[in-house]
Amino acid sequence: MAYQSELENLDEDGYTQLQFSSRGITKRPVSSEKGVLSSSCPPNWIAHENSCYLFGTPLNSWNGSKRQCSQLDSYLLKMDSSKELEFIVKQVSSQPARSFWIGLSRPQAEGPWLWEDGSKFSPDLFEIRSTVTQENSSHNCVWIHGRIIYDQLCSVPSNGICEKKLSI
Ligand code: MG
Repeated sequence: MAYQSELENLDEDGYTQLQFSSRGITKRPVSSEKGVLSSSCPPNWIAHENSCYLFGTPLNSWNGSKRQCSQLDSYLLKMDSSKELEFIVKQVSSQPARSFWIGLSRPQAEGPWLWEDGSKFSPDLFEIRSTVTQENSSHNCVWIHGRIIYDQLCSVPSNGICEKKLSI
């Protein structure tokens, strides 16, 4: 990559052109690998491992929140590891009055819980607490409140957590 950009900077007779615009970038203090990653997330997004997270899309249904994330080039949160879960719980617990949609839903009440990318939810990671009453069994979307993860009616307005992978 660095070699490529050096080639681009050569002018016709082979001299390297000075690129004043790149000075700021090379001078930026980089204290750790994480610092590099976080500088790649958009403003207001939080970097963790190889993803950027946005906590709190405006109140919307699960589908509406999914759409909002997609408009921001991202998807509703997908948790793949206990490390990621731990990070999310920490962030969410700092806003105890709010619930956040995550990217889990099921096509019907007895169907499997699926992430937005179609992969199956693994119950080893966390428990989805059921809030279904006898009358109403259509709690087919999932939100997180503090450290507890519940099923919920998909139409209830809530904030959402968007995630996007960092391109490395
Ligand atoms: Mg993830």
